[in-house]
Amino acid sequence: MLIVGGGINGAVSAAALAARGVKVAVIDRGDFANFTSQESSNLVWGGFKYLENYELPLVWKLCGSRNELMKAYPNMITELGFLATLDKTAPFPALLAGLGTVGYWGIGRFATKPPKYFRPKAIKKTEPIVNTATAKGGVQYQDAYLKDNDARFVWSFVRSALDNGATAANYVNLDKAEREDGRWHVWLRDTESDRELKLVAKTIVNAAGPFVDGLNEKWGNATDHRVVYSKGIHLVVPKLTDSERVLAFFDDTGRLFYVIPMAHRSVIGTTDTRTENPAEPVFDEDRQFLLDQINARLDLDTPLTMSDIISERSGVRPLVVERKGGDQTDVDWTSLSRKHEIDVDKPTRIVTIFGGKLTDCLNVGEEVVDAVSSLGIKMGPEAEGWFGEPSDEEFQAFMARARKLGLDKAPDIEREPSVAHVVWRRHGRAATAVLDAIEEDPALASPALASSDLLRAELPVMAEREMITRLDDLLRRRTKLSLVLQRDELGADAGMAEINQVLFNKG
Ligand SMILES: Cc1cc2nc3c(=O)[nH]c(=O)nc-3n(C[C@H](O)[C@H](O)[C@H](O)COP(=O)(O)OP(=O)(O)OC[C@H]3O[C@@H](n4cnc5c(N)ncnc54)[C@H](O)[C@@H]3O)c2cc1C
Repeated sequence: MLIVGGGINGAVSAAALAARGVKVAVIDRGDFANFTSQESSNLVWGGFKYLENYELPLVWKLCGSRNELMKAYPNMITELGFLATLDKTAPFPALLAGLGTVGYWGIGRFATKPPKYFRPKAIKKTEPIVNTATAKGGVQYQDAYLKDNDARFVWSFVRSALDNGATAANYVNLDKAEREDGRWHVWLRDTESDRELKLVAKTIVNAAGPFVDGLNEKWGNATDHRVVYSKGIHLVVPKLTDSERVLAFFDDTGRLFYVIPMAHRSVIGTTDTRTENPAEPVFDEDRQFLLDQINARLDLDTPLTMSDIISERSGVRPLVVERKGGDQTDVDWTSLSRKHEIDVDKPTRIVTIFGGKLTDCLNVGEEVVDAVSSLGIKMGPEAEGWFGEPSDEEFQAFMARARKLGLDKAPDIEREPSVAHVVWRRHGRAATAVLDAIEEDPALASPALASSDLLRAELPVMAEREMITRLDDLLRRRTKLSLVLQRDELGADAGMAEINQVLFNKG
């Protein structure tokens, strides 16, 4: 089986199939998660805002997926409150929003803390930064977020696939695939060395995200569904609130947007605009829109300007629509569903994944397994632990060892319980290799870069296990360093020399 695309959908499919003994390879023409899956809001959520479009089945399903992920990843995924301030731009009164949050809690099987209603004064007391001058009230509902980042989460599935015998290759492009004698003959190109590789596969899973339609067209695969693009951007700025809470507001168009915690920074986003270009950058008008929206809703001594932006993200949601549904120009864009669909073409043996959410990844994995089974590929018994963190006993044993090495202290980076928690979250079972390295040389317990939570001892472990090919793979995807630190700051850091040495063997 060949999986084309190593975003969340390709990675989770590879992990789910490898866990059942299927001989599988996953490729991406860039790094794993280099496209949409590194541009999300990092939220693991049931989609409170989709209730506005009465998408009850989707919200029910997403809440179930959120609950399953929260249980499976008790350290990587953290529950947090979403405090939504309702003012004149809110599309409904505070009381109705309050009822909505209770309904949402119920749809979420009461798996989170209960929602709360806030009068404007209480909002001010809880989050003094919020401008409550025109607020009518506020509601807080609960969801969760990926404490590291989306791309690291994707990597965990690639690693799981590798651990169960899969082949995974980043920076490998699919140049051409032809069906001959009931097999796919595939020409691949290593984009680093320009070397051509050849592969034969029984079945292809098309997990190319925004690019699925282009590949299907080339392969003559007429699907029932296709994707359209909705662009969303995020701006990373200095920390706006001390709490580990999401602040939610309705923008001037009545759409919810957020201030989301990310280490010692805040992330403002997102937007939802139609585009035909899957790789559209952040434009000045996008930046200005978000800055204007947030400045109007916060009590800041000095309003945020473009010079406060530390980093930014821009991605397109590949939204699934029915092919026979026309060009979609006459629909309310923001109301298009965020569901996923999986099309199976039996004659050509192509399984295509359309749309989806990070939150729904386990369902995508299971559904791809079913789709592949329907093509007659045999599945073995499911390997245990193909997703999720290792057991609590393993976590406790790791923490006990980490305490002895003095890693139970809080790191310089805020909102982290301890250095050990960060290491565990990042590496899971492989975190013990980091402890081994520190036991051998205690100096390796120091940060790899100033103002970072990455330890020097992690570098060799990552060099060996994480298929880091370019510096950005480390800074942007295996960690979130280039999101929370300015590029110049990173470039000037003396620790960069050691990183280059350990990862790429160059000084
Ligand atoms: C702004 C924004 C915010 C979001 N927020 C959230 C959120 O908070 N929570 C949530 O659950 N979801 C969120 N989502 C949705 C989620 O991020 C996406 O649904 C998901 O990342 C899509 O993953 P994917 O694997 O389908 O696509 P991608 O991540 O784009 O992966 C497709 C991969 O295919 C590769 N590829 C394409 N063509 C080829 C080829 N010819 N050869 C080799 N490789 C190829 C690409 O390089 C790419 O890496 C958000 C999305 C956006 C845009």
